[in-house]
Amino acid sequence: MRRALVVANWKMHGDRRFITSFASQYGDAPVGVDVVICPPLAYLAQCVAAFRGRRIRFGVQNVATVPSGALTGEHAAEMARDLGAEYAIIGHSERRSLFGESDAIVAQKFQAAKRAGLNPILCVGETLQQRRSGRAHATVHAQLAAVLDNAPAPALEHATIAYEPVWAIGTGATATPAVAQDMHAAIRERLGRAGVAARTRLLYGGSIKADGAAALFAAADIDGGLVGGASLDATAFAAICCAAACAPCAATTNDTTGTQ
Ligand code: PEP
Repeated sequence: MRRALVVANWKMHGDRRFITSFASQYGDAPVGVDVVICPPLAYLAQCVAAFRGRRIRFGVQNVATVPSGALTGEHAAEMARDLGAEYAIIGHSERRSLFGESDAIVAQKFQAAKRAGLNPILCVGETLQQRRSGRAHATVHAQLAAVLDNAPAPALEHATIAYEPVWAIGTGATATPAVAQDMHAAIRERLGRAGVAARTRLLYGGSIKADGAAALFAAADIDGGLVGGASLDATAFAAICCAAACAPCAATTNDTTGTQ
């Protein structure tokens, strides 16, 4: 059985005071759930220190394609690992749309994370226009193929896929559990061809809130969440993590209300 995973993407938010306050409000990862916080890289070391002794793990939001070089402003996956990161978000839609990351660059970054010993969290997802024109599945399949077609099965060990429909990120328009599950099932099917379907964790991301999380996590192919805005609120994030802990019971009883 796959362990639930909840990942906080703090994006470019927070400062030293915020981290001290968040660490004092947020307790620990619930039993049975892996919790990963991805702060801005500048605060990674402070975060690691602030949560020492708890079960929280850490990640970065991006890595360079190479381990070192004359690349002003970039940071290597190896550097993130050196600072205490174990995970790396790869191919977030903001990196794709605002920083011009093509599928080919995303594939290189996936390999860079693996090379450094980080667990990549590969983000895929369609825009609203792509969904409205019936190209949601084709878009996600192409994004997956760019990475999976060039990665031998061992490279996919410990990788996570996050389905993040672009139209849901930061908009408040969370995908319904049915819409999310439909895409997750398709992603799982695609992973089956790579021989890693059963063990790869699939996360949903896009305006997850504390009150809708349990219903999403109860879906058969959703193993947790990638959380942006709500992860900046320690109480809301803790509730989302608890919803992930409750997901197996919610799925069994098919009761998706009141499980938080
Ligand atoms: C994200 O940016 O990965 C994300 C899911 O953001 P939000 O939860 O704010 O939609």
